[in-house]
Amino acid sequence: MDRLYSPTAVKLMQNRHGVQASKSLGQNFLVDGNIVDKIVEGAEIREGDLVLEIGPGMGVITAAAAEQAARVVAVEIDKRLIPVLEETLAEFDNVKVIQGDVLKTDLEAVINEAREEYGKPFTGVRIMGNLPYYITTPIIMGILEKFGPTLGRSEEGLQCVFMVQKEVAVRMAAGPGGKDYGALSVAVSYYSEPELVTDVSREVFLPRPAVDSAVIRLRVRKEKPVEVKDEKLFFAVVKAGFGQRRKTLLNSLTGLLGFEKSKVSEILESAGIDGIRRAETLSLEEFARIADGFYDAK
Ligand code: SAM
Repeated sequence: MDRLYSPTAVKLMQNRHGVQASKSLGQNFLVDGNIVDKIVEGAEIREGDLVLEIGPGMGVITAAAAEQAARVVAVEIDKRLIPVLEETLAEFDNVKVIQGDVLKTDLEAVINEAREEYGKPFTGVRIMGNLPYYITTPIIMGILEKFGPTLGRSEEGLQCVFMVQKEVAVRMAAGPGGKDYGALSVAVSYYSEPELVTDVSREVFLPRPAVDSAVIRLRVRKEKPVEVKDEKLFFAVVKAGFGQRRKTLLNSLTGLLGFEKSKVSEILESAGIDGIRRAETLSLEEFARIADGFYDAK
């Protein structure tokens, strides 16, 4: 069947299956083939890859990915879309749709099962999706925290391509020194190398969202960018540092682990960081030095 690359085609599907877009599930369907192609090209899918798609909707990205990958597994929460997907993906025998909430689905088990069915390791794993905006950050952070230290560092490796709100993409890809750099930027770049693939206008969705979007690629790192003595503590320092952005580091870190100002001052000094700096100026490496300082002072 024809791809769902037009508002008319999406409306036709909606009418045929009696499915109206649900705002609360973040349903904004892509109706522009160029953008679908950019997302799929951005994922750099190879013949032997597994694609895990989040929120297939009516299957536009799914179908394009299925033409390139060994297997595609797509997780969709909306039961009403399952018959639609059965219809739009009928020609593919390498696609599996799982009905469920991606935040409650054991994605590791899903990937393991796909590998077992395939009978050998994949050349790589790609996780992708035009994400429902109401849960963009938990989805991405959940994937990076779970798979960054495991699958990401394995032979197969992991690369992610997501369509997200433009403002979130900019924050994820931001480096030190600007207003967009924050705890999300540090966490994303700890696990991956983020890269903006393309900006996307709100015009290419049905219904049209209130904000513009962007496609971001996260190449999950094979090696840690910095060694830290305690990862949890590293992220606690980042969180506290950005907790009150306008405060100096000395002030925002005072109280972390119950440490008093004088002790925090000593830690910063031995890490070679001026306490009057603000978190938004710190590199990953500098955050790591501070976190190790807290660790040693415990
Ligand atoms: N991929 C389709 C496209 O590009 O046209 C649809 C994208 S739409 C922005 C987001 C999709 O995610 C919807 O199909 C929605 O039902 C689904 N979704 C929302 N919350 C979800 C969740 N918690 N788990 C899995 N899918 C979810």
